[in-house]
Amino acid sequence: MEVTVLGCRGSTPATGTCFARYGGDTSSVAVARDGEPPTLILDAGTGLRRLGQATAGWAFRGAIVLTHLHWDHTHGLPFAPAVDHEEAQVDLYLPAQGVDPLELLARAVGPPHFPITPDRLRGNWRFHALDPGRHRIGGFDVLAAEVTHKGGRTFGYRVSDPTGTLAYIPDYWQAEATDEPTELVSGADLLLHDAQHLDLELASKAFLGHSTVEYAVDLAARRGVGHLVLFHHDPARHDAEIDAILCDLDGVGIDISAAAAGRRYII
Ligand SMILES: [Zn+2]
Ligand SMILES: [Zn+2]
Repeated sequence: MEVTVLGCRGSTPATGTCFARYGGDTSSVAVARDGEPPTLILDAGTGLRRLGQATAGWAFRGAIVLTHLHWDHTHGLPFAPAVDHEEAQVDLYLPAQGVDPLELLARAVGPPHFPITPDRLRGNWRFHALDPGRHRIGGFDVLAAEVTHKGGRTFGYRVSDPTGTLAYIPDYWQAEATDEPTELVSGADLLLHDAQHLDLELASKAFLGHSTVEYAVDLAARRGVGHLVLFHHDPARHDAEIDAILCDLDGVGIDISAAAAGRRYII
């Protein structure tokens, strides 16, 4: 399995040279079977625009699965050439409970907030409401489970194929969570987890609905994760600060990296 970070910034894009190395685009991750083009995209933040960038004219054929509908996870959808393409074939899945999934998405991506609704994008699009549980999506086994976050139903995902297992929890409100997402993360080869804050910032930022670096590290260590990727970086966190966070984590005893746009993990 090949996991490519397209965007890893939390909440809103960040621009400027201070964000150049880890990237300022918001959450989107491409998943591919070894040696094949990606067939599964997790979230459609502004990072989605990078999909297929190295192969101009390429059209995506597969599934886009959204964790939730906050802007930073949907705003790349109408701006990504690989999915807004005459030859694109896209099945889009989102947590929609008792509501038509297209109608729900169109509340943010549609007039008067945006010129068109998602079904007006080029290519062949289908929209699906996703329930918690096990699914076969984009050629992978996908476990969807509800996780605690602020303002709207939010899922985390566990994606498996015969070569490996990826757990993806970009937004998680640790301060309000009562259940740990054990089923999603236990024994995963790779965990991309919300790490927007530091413990020392939590007193002033817990209301935002996210997790700390320390929480993600502790979770990964206790649940036997192979490699933790700090994800959903605070939009004000400069590259040098992320470097310093990684430096401080030297010696904690598990493999850790910080998500950076364009970085690929093979598991
Ligand atoms: Zn987010
Ligand atoms: Zn969110």
